[in-house]
Amino acid sequence: MNNDVEREIAFLEEADRRARAYTAGIGQRPVFPSAHALEGLRRFEEALPARGLGNASTLALLDDVGSPAAVETNGSRYFGFVVGATLPVAAAADRLVLAWDNGALGHVTSPVTAAVEKVAGQWLLDILDLPRESAVGFVTSASAGTLIAVAAARRSLLARRGWDLDRRGLHGAPPVRVVTSELIHVVVKKALRILGFGTDDIVTAPVDRYGRIDPAQLPELDENTIVVLQAGEVNTGEFDPFTAVVPIAREAGSWVHVDGAFGLWARASAHSALADGVDLADSWTVDGHKWLNTPYDCAMVIVRDRAALARTMTSEAAYTQADGDAQRNLTLEFSRRARGVPVWAALRALGRDGVADLVERSVALAERAAAGLREAGYTVVNRVVLNQIIAHAATPQDTARVIAAAQASGAVWFGSSVWQGVPVMRISVSSWRTTGDDIDALVELLASLRG
Ligand SMILES: *Cc1c(COP(=O)(O)O)cnc(C)c1O
Repeated sequence: MNNDVEREIAFLEEADRRARAYTAGIGQRPVFPSAHALEGLRRFEEALPARGLGNASTLALLDDVGSPAAVETNGSRYFGFVVGATLPVAAAADRLVLAWDNGALGHVTSPVTAAVEKVAGQWLLDILDLPRESAVGFVTSASAGTLIAVAAARRSLLARRGWDLDRRGLHGAPPVRVVTSELIHVVVKKALRILGFGTDDIVTAPVDRYGRIDPAQLPELDENTIVVLQAGEVNTGEFDPFTAVVPIAREAGSWVHVDGAFGLWARASAHSALADGVDLADSWTVDGHKWLNTPYDCAMVIVRDRAALARTMTSEAAYTQADGDAQRNLTLEFSRRARGVPVWAALRALGRDGVADLVERSVALAERAAAGLREAGYTVVNRVVLNQIIAHAATPQDTARVIAAAQASGAVWFGSSVWQGVPVMRISVSSWRTTGDDIDALVELLASLRG
């Protein structure tokens, strides 16, 4: 080793020592940082140094000030949003990806990541039981995946009508509309807005009392329609009725996209019946960084018609020259991090059984939490079909007080939401680390806070 590399190794060992110390402290610090730790963040407010301050002092500041102010989402008692911890094997794989520093455009820049991401894509289709011919793009988020899928959907619908979007653009194109439910996730609305769909182009499908699109009230569908359904509503965990809706949409010539950011993982478990018929859709998004417990940022966009995705996302001048396997032609990025590698690592280390167990354990723990909350006098609002619980106390004021007190306790963290006009606490069980003891501690705390 030359001296430079030796110094680099020593420095990386120091970084590793600090990261290990952070990990060793999991469960011992407040889940949400203390006011004191948050005040410390002021120390980052330095002027940009004219002369570099060096590696050691930079790493030390980040760890000494930053680590105490980190939210313990990598622990067992964070129940906010739909946040999972990270699996050690997925974090370890990402460590190697970082060391390789390959821009994962495709085989030409990174044969290793191209090979691993290809296998990861095949395994993903297998474990989610989606059409094996689909293309899989490894993206940053379900947000980015939705943007990509809807862009592919519109381009395809227009092409079927004989409209060449690449040449003629949108001006004067046949109108394309979107049908979705009022409960669709906000990032889907964002993706639609970015793509130029106005609120007038979006038709809202009525939902039943569980928040699922009601097939009996489905708006008229046709070959100019993109239908966006969801697998796993973010409050209730409920699924739109795919077996009823998707065949109607396909018959009408519509394109069906499914936002399955976390819920699609039910497919890999004993709860797969929740998502029956979802494989009949045209495209799907699913996160790695939520329920599969990979590090951020990691998600997948899956499109049945490989060419439709590659034609939309190609980085080449012309699609005919495109390598339809290369991730640069399936995602937004050209230079990109190999996000499929931690997915591969998680799937390989866990296997089919391990993924099923991760999902099924979370669901069982959510049911246990719901039972405990009911016993403690809370109203559990949803059916708890998956890993999400929404509940409230006697009055909205009580609910708000309990949420604030739980967050301030440092023992757990969960957030709030509003369901059918009623403020609720929202609890999500999405981490491999969470055990029955964690759930019992959560319930005990909430019982004591109800007053
Ligand atoms: C989290 C979530 C999203 C957004 O996913 P990101 O990966 O955070 O962009 C979309 N839909 C649902 C149902 C979600 O839970």
